Amino acid sequence: MRRELTEWQLLDMWEAGHRQAPPARALLLAAAVAPSGATVADLPLAELKALQLDLRERSFGTVLPCVTDCPGCGESLEVSVMTDELRAPGQRKAPGDGPELGTLHAEGCKVTYRALTGRDLLAVHGASGKVRRTLLRRCVVGSEPADSDLPDVVLEALAERLADHDPGADTVLSLTCPHCRHAWTAALDVAEHLWAEVEAYARRLLYEVHALARAYGWSEADVLAVSPLRRQFYLGAATG
Ligand SMILES: [Zn+2]
Repeated sequence: MRRELTEWQLLDMWEAGHRQAPPARALLLAAAVAPSGATVADLPLAELKALQLDLRERSFGTVLPCVTDCPGCGESLEVSVMTDELRAPGQRKAPGDGPELGTLHAEGCKVTYRALTGRDLLAVHGASGKVRRTLLRRCVVGSEPADSDLPDVVLEALAERLADHDPGADTVLSLTCPHCRHAWTAALDVAEHLWAEVEAYARRLLYEVHALARAYGWSEADVLAVSPLRRQFYLGAATG
Protein backbone atom coordinates (compact mmCIF):
# COMPACT_ATOMS: atom_id res chain seq x y z
CA MET A 1 0.00 0.00 0.00
CA ARG A 2 1.35 3.42 -0.91
CA ARG A 3 1.91 5.72 1.99
CA GLU A 4 1.65 9.41 1.35
CA LEU A 5 3.80 11.62 3.52
CA THR A 6 2.05 14.55 5.16
CA GLU A 7 3.82 17.84 5.80
CA TRP A 8 3.72 16.99 9.50
CA GLN A 9 5.60 13.76 8.85
CA LEU A 10 8.07 15.54 6.64
CA LEU A 11 8.78 18.09 9.37
CA ASP A 12 9.11 15.32 11.96
CA MET A 13 11.53 13.45 9.71
CA TRP A 14 13.60 16.56 9.13
CA GLU A 15 13.73 17.29 12.85
CA ALA A 16 14.73 13.70 13.64
CA GLY A 17 17.50 13.68 11.05
CA HIS A 18 18.67 17.26 11.40
CA ARG A 19 21.73 16.49 13.49
CA GLN A 20 22.22 12.94 12.26
CA ALA A 21 25.03 11.57 10.11
CA PRO A 22 24.25 10.86 6.43
CA PRO A 23 23.91 7.06 6.88
CA ALA A 24 21.31 7.63 9.63
CA ARG A 25 19.42 10.13 7.47
CA ALA A 26 19.40 7.62 4.61
CA LEU A 27 17.63 5.16 6.91
CA LEU A 28 15.12 7.76 8.11
CA LEU A 29 14.16 8.56 4.52
CA ALA A 30 13.65 4.91 3.60
CA ALA A 31 11.74 4.15 6.81
CA ALA A 32 9.23 6.91 5.99
CA VAL A 33 7.77 4.83 3.17
CA ALA A 34 8.77 1.28 4.18
CA PRO A 35 6.01 -1.19 5.08
CA SER A 36 5.31 -0.95 8.79
CA GLY A 37 7.46 -3.33 10.77
CA ALA A 38 10.20 -3.50 8.13
CA THR A 39 13.74 -3.01 9.42
CA VAL A 40 15.22 -0.82 6.73
CA ALA A 41 18.69 -0.91 8.29
CA ASP A 42 19.06 -4.54 7.24
CA LEU A 43 17.99 -4.09 3.62
CA PRO A 44 20.59 -4.33 0.84
CA LEU A 45 21.64 -0.84 -0.30
CA ALA A 46 19.80 -1.08 -3.63
CA GLU A 47 16.52 -1.81 -1.82
CA LEU A 48 17.18 1.04 0.55
CA LYS A 49 17.68 3.31 -2.43
CA ALA A 50 14.47 2.03 -4.04
CA LEU A 51 12.55 3.16 -0.94
CA GLN A 52 14.24 6.54 -1.03
CA LEU A 53 13.22 6.89 -4.67
CA ASP A 54 9.64 5.95 -3.72
CA LEU A 55 9.66 8.74 -1.17
CA ARG A 56 11.17 11.14 -3.69
CA GLU A 57 8.44 10.39 -6.23
CA ARG A 58 5.61 10.75 -3.72
CA SER A 59 6.93 13.92 -2.16
CA PHE A 60 8.60 15.84 -4.97
CA GLY A 61 7.85 14.01 -8.24
CA THR A 62 9.87 11.93 -10.69
CA VAL A 63 12.22 14.56 -12.11
CA LEU A 64 15.42 15.05 -10.15
CA PRO A 65 17.29 18.26 -10.96
CA CYS A 66 21.05 17.92 -10.49
CA VAL A 67 23.71 20.58 -10.78
CA THR A 68 27.31 19.64 -11.56
CA ASP A 69 30.45 21.20 -13.01
CA CYS A 70 31.99 19.85 -16.22
CA PRO A 71 35.52 18.59 -15.45
CA GLY A 72 36.48 19.46 -19.06
CA CYS A 73 35.58 23.13 -19.30
CA GLY A 74 34.36 23.97 -15.81
CA GLU A 75 30.93 25.04 -17.04
CA SER A 76 28.11 24.56 -14.52
CA LEU A 77 25.51 22.14 -15.89
CA GLU A 78 21.94 21.53 -14.90
CA VAL A 79 20.91 17.95 -15.58
CA SER A 80 17.45 16.48 -15.06
CA VAL A 81 17.38 12.80 -14.16
CA MET A 82 14.22 10.69 -14.01
CA THR A 83 13.86 8.61 -10.85
CA ASP A 84 13.24 5.53 -13.01
CA GLU A 85 16.73 5.89 -14.51
CA LEU A 86 18.16 5.57 -11.02
CA ARG A 87 16.47 2.29 -10.20
CA ALA A 88 18.37 -0.96 -10.71
CA PRO A 89 16.95 -3.01 -13.58
CA GLY A 90 14.83 -5.95 -12.44
CA GLN A 91 14.84 -4.75 -8.90
CA ARG A 92 12.72 -6.61 -6.40
CA LYS A 93 9.70 -4.45 -5.68
CA ALA A 94 8.80 -5.70 -2.22
CA PRO A 95 11.50 -5.26 0.39
CA GLY A 96 11.82 -7.66 3.27
CA ASP A 97 12.35 -10.94 1.42
CA GLY A 98 15.27 -11.58 3.76
CA PRO A 99 18.93 -11.37 2.91
CA GLU A 100 20.00 -13.20 -0.23
CA LEU A 101 23.21 -15.10 0.38
CA GLY A 102 26.00 -15.67 -2.11
CA THR A 103 28.90 -18.12 -2.08
CA LEU A 104 32.46 -17.36 -3.12
CA HIS A 105 35.32 -19.81 -3.60
CA ALA A 106 38.75 -18.18 -3.57
CA GLU A 107 42.22 -19.17 -2.38
CA GLY A 108 40.91 -22.40 -0.89
CA CYS A 109 38.28 -20.54 1.14
CA LYS A 110 34.54 -20.87 0.83
CA VAL A 111 32.86 -17.64 1.87
CA THR A 112 29.14 -17.14 2.39
CA TYR A 113 28.21 -13.48 2.12
CA ARG A 114 25.34 -11.03 2.03
CA ALA A 115 24.95 -7.55 0.51
CA LEU A 116 26.05 -4.39 2.30
CA THR A 117 23.30 -2.74 4.32
CA GLY A 118 22.60 0.68 5.78
CA ARG A 119 23.44 -0.73 9.20
CA ASP A 120 26.94 -1.51 7.93
CA LEU A 121 27.46 2.04 6.67
CA LEU A 122 26.16 3.43 9.95
CA ALA A 123 28.55 1.20 11.90
CA VAL A 124 31.66 2.49 10.13
CA HIS A 125 30.59 6.12 9.85
CA GLY A 126 33.23 8.35 11.37
CA ALA A 127 35.61 5.43 11.83
CA SER A 128 39.18 5.78 10.70
CA GLY A 129 41.53 3.12 9.44
CA LYS A 130 40.48 0.01 7.61
CA VAL A 131 36.91 1.03 6.85
CA ARG A 132 36.78 -0.86 3.56
CA ARG A 133 38.06 -4.03 5.16
CA THR A 134 35.61 -3.67 8.04
CA LEU A 135 32.72 -3.28 5.61
CA LEU A 136 33.76 -6.34 3.62
CA ARG A 137 34.17 -8.37 6.81
CA ARG A 138 30.66 -7.42 7.89
CA CYS A 139 29.28 -8.95 4.68
CA VAL A 140 30.82 -12.33 5.49
CA VAL A 141 28.18 -14.57 7.03
CA GLY A 142 30.38 -17.63 7.28
CA SER A 143 33.67 -19.02 5.96
CA GLU A 144 35.35 -22.42 5.56
CA PRO A 145 37.81 -23.18 6.91
CA ALA A 146 36.51 -21.16 9.86
CA ASP A 147 38.98 -18.32 10.08
CA SER A 148 38.27 -14.92 11.48
CA ASP A 149 41.13 -13.37 9.52
CA LEU A 150 40.33 -13.78 5.82
CA PRO A 151 43.24 -12.78 3.55
CA ASP A 152 42.96 -9.48 1.67
CA VAL A 153 42.92 -11.26 -1.68
CA VAL A 154 39.76 -13.12 -0.66
CA LEU A 155 38.12 -9.93 0.58
CA GLU A 156 39.00 -8.19 -2.70
CA ALA A 157 37.37 -11.03 -4.62
CA LEU A 158 34.36 -10.55 -2.36
CA ALA A 159 34.30 -6.81 -3.14
CA GLU A 160 33.96 -7.60 -6.84
CA ARG A 161 31.14 -10.03 -6.13
CA LEU A 162 29.21 -7.54 -4.01
CA ALA A 163 28.66 -5.21 -6.96
CA ASP A 164 26.89 -8.01 -8.84
CA HIS A 165 25.15 -9.27 -5.73
CA ASP A 166 23.38 -5.95 -5.15
CA PRO A 167 23.20 -4.25 -8.56
CA GLY A 168 22.20 -0.62 -8.36
CA ALA A 169 23.57 -0.05 -4.87
CA ASP A 170 25.75 2.70 -6.32
CA THR A 171 24.27 5.38 -8.55
CA VAL A 172 26.50 6.51 -11.37
CA LEU A 173 25.37 9.02 -14.00
CA SER A 174 26.85 9.11 -17.51
CA LEU A 175 27.14 12.76 -18.50
CA THR A 176 28.17 14.63 -21.63
CA CYS A 177 28.88 18.35 -21.57
CA PRO A 178 26.84 20.23 -24.22
CA HIS A 179 29.53 22.93 -24.41
CA CYS A 180 32.74 20.93 -24.91
CA ARG A 181 31.39 17.37 -25.49
CA HIS A 182 33.49 16.04 -22.62
CA ALA A 183 32.01 12.75 -21.36
CA TRP A 184 32.38 11.50 -17.78
CA THR A 185 30.62 9.61 -15.03
CA ALA A 186 29.55 11.09 -11.73
CA ALA A 187 28.31 9.39 -8.58
CA LEU A 188 24.96 10.53 -7.22
CA ASP A 189 24.05 10.02 -3.59
CA VAL A 190 20.28 9.66 -3.84
CA ALA A 191 19.72 9.88 -0.08
CA GLU A 192 21.78 13.04 0.37
CA HIS A 193 20.16 14.64 -2.67
CA LEU A 194 16.73 13.87 -1.25
CA TRP A 195 17.73 15.01 2.22
CA ALA A 196 18.73 18.42 0.84
CA GLU A 197 15.26 18.71 -0.72
CA VAL A 198 13.57 17.68 2.53
CA GLU A 199 15.67 20.26 4.36
CA ALA A 200 14.77 23.03 1.91
CA TYR A 201 11.07 22.12 2.04
CA ALA A 202 11.04 21.99 5.84
CA ARG A 203 12.74 25.36 6.19
CA ARG A 204 10.35 26.97 3.73
CA LEU A 205 7.40 25.44 5.57
CA LEU A 206 8.63 26.70 8.93
CA TYR A 207 9.06 30.15 7.48
CA GLU A 208 5.46 30.04 6.23
CA VAL A 209 4.29 28.97 9.67
CA HIS A 210 6.23 31.86 11.16
CA ALA A 211 4.81 34.42 8.71
CA LEU A 212 1.21 33.25 9.02
CA ALA A 213 1.38 32.83 12.79
CA ARG A 214 2.57 36.40 13.07
CA ALA A 215 0.03 37.78 10.62
CA TYR A 216 -3.07 35.97 11.84
CA GLY A 217 -2.17 34.61 15.26
CA TRP A 218 -2.50 31.04 14.01
CA SER A 219 -0.78 28.13 15.72
CA GLU A 220 1.61 25.81 13.89
CA ALA A 221 -1.17 23.21 13.68
CA ASP A 222 -3.55 25.85 12.25
CA VAL A 223 -1.10 26.76 9.51
CA LEU A 224 -0.30 23.16 8.54
CA ALA A 225 -4.00 22.33 8.40
CA VAL A 226 -4.38 24.85 5.56
CA SER A 227 -3.61 23.41 2.10
CA PRO A 228 -0.41 24.63 0.41
CA LEU A 229 -2.39 26.49 -2.26
CA ARG A 230 -4.53 28.39 0.25
CA ARG A 231 -1.45 29.04 2.35
CA GLN A 232 0.18 30.77 -0.61
CA PHE A 233 -2.88 32.97 -0.93
CA TYR A 234 -2.87 33.94 2.75
CA LEU A 235 0.88 34.54 2.66
CA GLY A 236 0.48 36.83 -0.34
CA ALA A 237 -2.39 38.67 1.35
CA ALA A 238 -0.53 39.02 4.63
CA THR A 239 2.72 40.27 3.17
CA GLY A 240 1.32 42.12 0.17
ZN1 LIG B 1 32.43 21.02 -20.73
